[in-house]
Parts: sequence; C-alpha cells; structure tokens
Amino acid sequence: AKAAGKNRFLRFQPDMMTALLQRTDLESGLQFAVPNREITVEFQPIVSHRMGQVVQFEALARWDRDGGRVPPSDFIPPAERSGLIREIGLEVMVQGMQQLAPWLGEDPARSLAVNVSGVQLQEHDFAATVLRLAQEYGVAARQLVMEVTESVFFDADCNVIRQLSTLRDAGARVALDDFGTGYSSLGRLQDLPVDTVKIDKTFVSMVRTGSERLPILSAMINMAHSLGLTVTGEGIETPVQADYLTSLGCDSLQGYLFSRPEPAARLPGVLGRAEQA
Ligand code: C2E
Ligand code: CA
Ligand code: CA
Ligand code: CA
Repeated sequence: AKAAGKNRFLRFQPDMMTALLQRTDLESGLQFAVPNREITVEFQPIVSHRMGQVVQFEALARWDRDGGRVPPSDFIPPAERSGLIREIGLEVMVQGMQQLAPWLGEDPARSLAVNVSGVQLQEHDFAATVLRLAQEYGVAARQLVMEVTESVFFDADCNVIRQLSTLRDAGARVALDDFGTGYSSLGRLQDLPVDTVKIDKTFVSMVRTGSERLPILSAMINMAHSLGLTVTGEGIETPVQADYLTSLGCDSLQGYLFSRPEPAARLPGVLGRAEQA
C-alpha cells in the first residue's frame, strides 16, 4: 500500500497540484461564505402560460468571493459533500422569503421556489424549519415550492419522503427539477411525492425550428399531465421554444427569454418599485 502511495505521489503532476489547491481553497472559503455574508440570492421569474404573468420566482444561490462570482456548479457540489449546503440552503430560503414576502403577500396565487438538496432532506427537522421560517416571514406554506432532483429519492430514505410529505400536507408543493435527465423511467413518476415537473433545458434546447417532431417532449408532458402534475419548461431562450412548449400544453415557462436571474431590487414589480419611487 505504501509503494502504491509513493507511486501515486510520483505521478502527481503540477496541474493536478494546482487543481487540488484550488479545490481546497474553494472548500475552506465556503466555510465562511455564509457568516461573511458572501451568499446572496437572485430570482428568476416563472411565467404562467395561461395568465401570461409572473406567478413564481425561483431563488438561486450566488457566491461573491473577492470581487468575483463563483458559479453554483462549482460550489454546490462541494457544499453538498461537506454538508455546508444545509447552512447555504437555509440562507437562500431566509433571504428568499424575506425579500419576496411583500410580493407574495399581494396575491396568494404567487409562489417562491427554492432548490433543496438531498442532504437537507436527510435532516429530521427540515420540514419543521421551513414551516417555522414561513410563519416568521409571513409567507403561506402554499406559496412555497421545493425543487428537488430525482436523486433525492434514490436512497429510498423514508425520512426524505416524510419531510416532503409534511411540507405537502401543510400546502407546499414539490417540483421535480431537471426532469428527464435522471435514470428513473417516466412510469416511476406516479410513485413520487411531486406536484410539478420541470423539463430540463437539454430537452428544450432540442427545439430549434418549432416544426421538428420531438416525441420525447410531448411524451414527457402528456405523461405528467395524465398523472395530474403541472409542467414547467426550463431554459426557454427563444420565442420558438416558448411557442412549441406551449403548443404541447406546458403550463409555465422559465428562461432567459423572459429574464435572467436578478437580485430582488432589480425585479419589476417586486422591490424595484420602492427604489424607483
Ligand atoms: P437549476 O435548479 O436547474 O437552475 C436553473 C439554472 O439554469 C440556473 O443556473 C439558471 O440561471 C439557468 N438558466 C435559467 N434560464 C436559462 C436559459 O434560458 N438558458 C440557460 N442556458 N440557462 C438558464 P445557476 O443559477 O447557475 O444554477 C445552477 C444550478 O445550481 C441550479 O440548477 C441548481 O441545481 C444549483 N443551485 C443553485 N442555487 C441553489 C441552491 O440554493 N441550493 C441548491 N441545492 N442548489 C442550487
Ligand atoms: Ca431548480
Ligand atoms: Ca433545473
Ligand atoms: Ca440543473
């Protein structure tokens, strides 16, 4: 074992060293991201096809570090490995509720979606914490959407189901994020405690002309509808994609076509009004 270890060391290239140091630096920096107030939230609107208006915002975590911004794809995976995602996820939820409470308060049909990691769902008091925060910020449980990926269901951990069920019993909804990218069959959908599916942007990006036939997309939407779920199309960048998904019956749309994620103060009709006044 020692020889193997030595060998491994000899093959350790400088670029690997740089990568390792960067990773270590990122992980140690992440520890102080929340206490140093480096984690902020941006919101991206989700537009209802039927009403043609913004009915929901998804809160997305942002990490500003030394004047630069670390992309979520770089810091969410290590945050999940280290467990720091619990603290970060909570921070996103608190900031999301705090900043959107006035907007949510104007119409009970409006909602706030947050991304929830499987690590958070392993906590026995996750649902209770979410419901307590909602009460604290004056947000109704029915105005909350928990976005989870299907990987949270793999471990068949009954606590995960229990936490989501507690939240759903209180009126919150669960959305299956990145739908279509996982491994489970469409048929498994009916066993999952979810209310909405979010069709992953890789499927949406296949829509280029609007005249192509994309049986997979219509199958996904029809299957979800037949199970009584609502469908959100993600990563909508062009009017052609918006029209095509709408023609397939997609209930709501999200993507750069409508807006990039923005801080609350820059969202029209949210806090922008107060600042413009
Ligand atoms: P996601 O939950 O699938 O979020 C959607 C991502 O797609 C966001 O990237 C968003 O900025 C991006 N996006 C939105 N519209 C478009 C579009 O029209 N075109 C393209 N190409 N992209 C679009 P972002 O903000 O970089 O987040 C990446 C991922 O990081 C999220 O994917 C989510 O899985 C994770 N994440 C972000 N915030 C949190 C968080 O607070 N908690 C957890 N657990 N994960 C988070
Ligand atoms: Ca999401
Ligand atoms: Ca997604
Ligand atoms: Ca994603």
